[in-house]
Amino acid sequence: MKLSVVIPVYNEEGNLRPLHARISAVAAAHADDHEMIFVDDGSTDGSLAVIRELRRDDPHVRFVSFSRNFGHEIATTAGLDHAGGDAVVLIDADLQDPPEVIPQMLERWQAGAHVVYAQRRRRPGESGFKRLSAFLFYRTINLLSNVDIPVDTGDFRLMDRRVVEAVCKCRENPRFIRGLVSWVGFRQEALRYDRDERHAGETKYGLAKLLRLSAEAICGFSLFPLRAVLWLGGAITLISLLVSLVLVVRALFAPALADAQAFTACAMFFLGGVGLVALGVVGLYVGHIYGQSQHRPLYVVDTSGGWEDARPACSSDPALLNFDIARGWSVPPDSSEPTAVSTHPPAD
Ligand code: UDP
Ligand code: MG
Repeated sequence: MKLSVVIPVYNEEGNLRPLHARISAVAAAHADDHEMIFVDDGSTDGSLAVIRELRRDDPHVRFVSFSRNFGHEIATTAGLDHAGGDAVVLIDADLQDPPEVIPQMLERWQAGAHVVYAQRRRRPGESGFKRLSAFLFYRTINLLSNVDIPVDTGDFRLMDRRVVEAVCKCRENPRFIRGLVSWVGFRQEALRYDRDERHAGETKYGLAKLLRLSAEAICGFSLFPLRAVLWLGGAITLISLLVSLVLVVRALFAPALADAQAFTACAMFFLGGVGLVALGVVGLYVGHIYGQSQHRPLYVVDTSGGWEDARPACSSDPALLNFDIARGWSVPPDSSEPTAVSTHPPAD
């Protein structure tokens, strides 16, 4: 069994050596073979130099270095693209997530789980604000989105090869990996753990970045913001229509109580509401166009059977064939191979 450990790195020079030592110890004891893939996300400190040194001494170390900072989610994606293991672990470089949890993840994986995500029991060294924002973020996104994203869970997780390939098929940008992992499905299990404090350096996620990530996550997995506009417009239209009806009836039966100003205000609200409804309808179409432009696969197959001597009706178009990650799905010899995920051989 080969284990890949993917580590996005942005200015983490003080953490890389202890991280490497701890992952090496765990991997050597629990995997037949392993690779550690460092993705240097345009670090401006000595991170890349440290990674190169690690590579010199340890053939299990591989790295990809970006031309500039592309952001955590993209760095993670590059790591997944390059990972060749049967099981792939995503871990931050700052040692907040203890590598010693990996053996428990491997156990769960060997017992049949496809994703083992580490769920935080405790998060020392993080401000009250960060905890509150994380608490609100996970609850909000689950309320609004159409996939179940586990609460109090970061990127620290183990994924089966098939899950990684399915996630890598999703090339949308902006992207929210945790959401994509939930989206692809398969058997996902939580593993409770205690998060440590950052070993060295400081967090790269300030308030602005956190808000942007949250907005991207919500927009990527939910049309709720667009629907909310539609509902708001509908509610305003309906209420102003009802109130104007009351005003008209009152003016008819009790002309002394006629209130032209109130009626004008209602008319304004009505028009505003109609405008919002129109905007919401256009928004929904835009939302669907956005969904199409994400180019996610329509579905992800876990297993299939009975196709050994039959050709699926749509198999003439490899793009329409189910995933090549499907176990037991035999592609007939005369049909072209389904498009594979491009995994470039990592270069030194
Ligand atoms: N990171 C990255 N690119 C960025 C920001 C962060 O690759 O633009 C990496 C960072 O080096 C770390 C991980 O993503 O390994 C998580 O970042 P951080 O610890 O700052 O986030 P926090 O744990 O505070 O949410
Ligand atoms: Mg961190």
